[in-house]
Amino acid sequence: MGLNRRAAAIRAAYGDLRAQGRDPAALRFDAVSSPTQGRLEGRDVTLFGTNNYLGLTFDPVCVEAAADAARAWGAGTTGSRIANGSYGAHLMLEQEIAAFYARRGAVVFSTGYLANLGVISALAEKGDHLLIDADSHASIYDGCRLSDADTIRFRHNDPESLARRLARLEGTPGDKIIVVEGIYSMLGDAGRLREIAAVKREAGPDVYLLADEAHSLGVLGANGRGKAEADGVEADCDYVVGTFSKSVGSVGGFCVSDREELDALRSYSRPYMFTASMTPATVAGARAGFAQMQARPELRDRLWDNARRLYAALDALGFALGPEPSPVIAVQLADAAQAVALWNALIDAGLYTNVALPPATPNGISLLRVSVSAAHTPAEIDWAVEVFAAAGVAIGVLPLSAGASRA
Ligand code: PMP
Repeated sequence: MGLNRRAAAIRAAYGDLRAQGRDPAALRFDAVSSPTQGRLEGRDVTLFGTNNYLGLTFDPVCVEAAADAARAWGAGTTGSRIANGSYGAHLMLEQEIAAFYARRGAVVFSTGYLANLGVISALAEKGDHLLIDADSHASIYDGCRLSDADTIRFRHNDPESLARRLARLEGTPGDKIIVVEGIYSMLGDAGRLREIAAVKREAGPDVYLLADEAHSLGVLGANGRGKAEADGVEADCDYVVGTFSKSVGSVGGFCVSDREELDALRSYSRPYMFTASMTPATVAGARAGFAQMQARPELRDRLWDNARRLYAALDALGFALGPEPSPVIAVQLADAAQAVALWNALIDAGLYTNVALPPATPNGISLLRVSVSAAHTPAEIDWAVEVFAAAGVAIGVLPLSAGASRA
């Protein structure tokens, strides 16, 4: 039987990737035994390819809370909150997040992807304008598509580019909503929220700002509320979206806001209404993770010590990295083949990272996404640097001298 055109194109692209070694989309972990250790297809690996920034996935308090909730409430909810009802813990989680952000309300979604999809598509409709950073996460792009609003990209992290696009819209009807991120997921650079917020204020009262703090929650800000807190512009953010799948160590997403329409999302937002709600275990794990994140600010300090240490060492080796030290360290390679070769060589040496290729990456860049955790020991960071040096030399990304200087 013949393939349709689209299926054939997908198969061809996938075949190219597989021809170069392991298939990133089909990796099998035999075990994951801690935030930093796992067994990957028969080989022990140290994990540098998670978003486990605070190492909370194995925190005993979180694990017990999740296990207890599953025993008491069952393994799943088997439906959406709008159809099957909320469990008490969904509402408790929402109250706790709203209190953490000192906001009027919070709405929890089943994942962070669905939170962006659900909030953006419900807030904007045909005739409105969504102004999004060019490097936005797929969930933001997909939310825009689902909304039918006019989507306008501005240059990555460039407030002047945003200001120019807003100026062109002056006098046009429809809401204008700016969407930015606290830390960008591929290159690991922090959003310039202070400057973006200033542009928003300048543009007038019918312009709104949504900040996705997926990678910056628990990572930035005096209380871990993210980049808007660090930049002192929380009051300018009309909506904050986040996820429980990274620093919090569970699964789920949320939106907090002071605005009254937030509650209306529950009967208006399709990605809230038409999918099963967070399971009892993930809600309990998220609540416990949230509490741990707040009670243990030292985890954030440890994360940043590790992130700076690894970034500085990889930079000194000569790798092309993202623009600033960050728990997300992007090692940029010449092309997809080189990225996949380095990724395979690192796994052979017991080091697991994420390979990210176009179109998932900005500007057609091929990169390895190295994510740091508070749970890494300094010795693990130094070992990773040695492995990167050797693999980089072996596949010809680094000059021979890079390996020799560390021998
Ligand atoms: N926003 C950003 C910026 C992200 O990087 C991600 C996940 N990589 C998400 C949202 C979606 O989060 P989740 O994993 O909870 O779906």
